[in-house]
Amino acid sequence: MRLVCAFLLFTLCCAPGWAQELVILHAKVYTSPDLRPVTGATILIRNGKIVAVGRRLAVPPAIESLDCRGCIVFAGFWNTHVHFMEPKWADASRLPAMQLARELQQMLTHSGFTTVVDTGSDTMNTVALRRRIESGEVPGPRIYTAGFPLYPSHALPFYLSGLPPELRDRLPQPATPADAIASVQQNIAAGTDIVKLFTGSILAPGHVVPMSAPIATAAVAEAHRHHQLVFAHSTNLEGTRVAMNSGVDILAHAPEATGGLDDRLLQQLVARHMAMIPTLKLFSGDADIASIRSEVFRFHRLGGVLLFGTDTGFLTDYDVGEEYRQLSLAGLGFRQILTMLTTAPAERFGVADHQGRVAPGMDADLTILSVDPATGDPLAFTQVEYTIRAGHIIFHP
Ligand SMILES: [Zn+2]
Repeated sequence: MRLVCAFLLFTLCCAPGWAQELVILHAKVYTSPDLRPVTGATILIRNGKIVAVGRRLAVPPAIESLDCRGCIVFAGFWNTHVHFMEPKWADASRLPAMQLARELQQMLTHSGFTTVVDTGSDTMNTVALRRRIESGEVPGPRIYTAGFPLYPSHALPFYLSGLPPELRDRLPQPATPADAIASVQQNIAAGTDIVKLFTGSILAPGHVVPMSAPIATAAVAEAHRHHQLVFAHSTNLEGTRVAMNSGVDILAHAPEATGGLDDRLLQQLVARHMAMIPTLKLFSGDADIASIRSEVFRFHRLGGVLLFGTDTGFLTDYDVGEEYRQLSLAGLGFRQILTMLTTAPAERFGVADHQGRVAPGMDADLTILSVDPATGDPLAFTQVEYTIRAGHIIFHP
């Protein structure tokens, strides 16, 4: 796995619009979670897209190449639950590009994430960060953002008490359905892509306040009117019922208070096509982590769609190995976890025609590992050798 140095330097400070070509040689490629890998494969990339994948491909002369003997290639990994809420992201419109690039590598792309979903942060700041990435100035992942989440009235979660008062005052706590609609519209006008609701807000440990059903219903309807997905932090049975009955699309966490989350209720979530992001690392220190893992596995067994997400950014330890370990303990195998990282989020976000698989015509977003997770070690998913977005290397250790 060696690369021409000049090429690496070029791609790390990628020039947008440059007619760039890259060929990956001798790779083991998982084109899709449900297919056998192709060994000794070549991947030809041009202008950010995969042009060809397969054995014995003719490679144009003088093209930049990446000798990938011993590495394993996957479609770019998604992390569908992150936050840009730490103080270091403030003023993202003016921070030096190199600093932002370094922070993005440490937090996200060193783990192979080519697409991330920010489920709650200062809207304008994350939109500014995304603008600098998309302009080509800062190498980084594709970002979908919820901007400011909506909270139940007078019920901010206790763990946000450390936020600066001026930021806390800006967090929407709609008191009426009309307020909820206005909050959703404000976010969308500022450039957000999804809506996040706290349908069960933890006011104090053990004290969960649900969002009122009419307010949640109004927010979801407004989001759907704009063709946006709605995520919910539901916490317990009551918050999960509010999410389900209001039409929420994705539970941003496995409900951590598992009482009442029986197979009948989980079946109802599945019937309403709700997906779930387990975020098991977040709960890994809880006394009842085994029940939460069981809830996640039962939801999966009943046909529920799981998406990979870690709450990175709220969790300031960026090592995602524990998430893979917990998913494995929950009973999920290599192919199920790979589905959570690639095809499942691409389908749920409506971009499966150009994301989630390694095939001609797809975006050249690739996560390349040095160890094959099919061997059974879930931590192999953390052994990232290259993170490639739109044909540009955005991380290499
Ligand atoms: Zn979160």
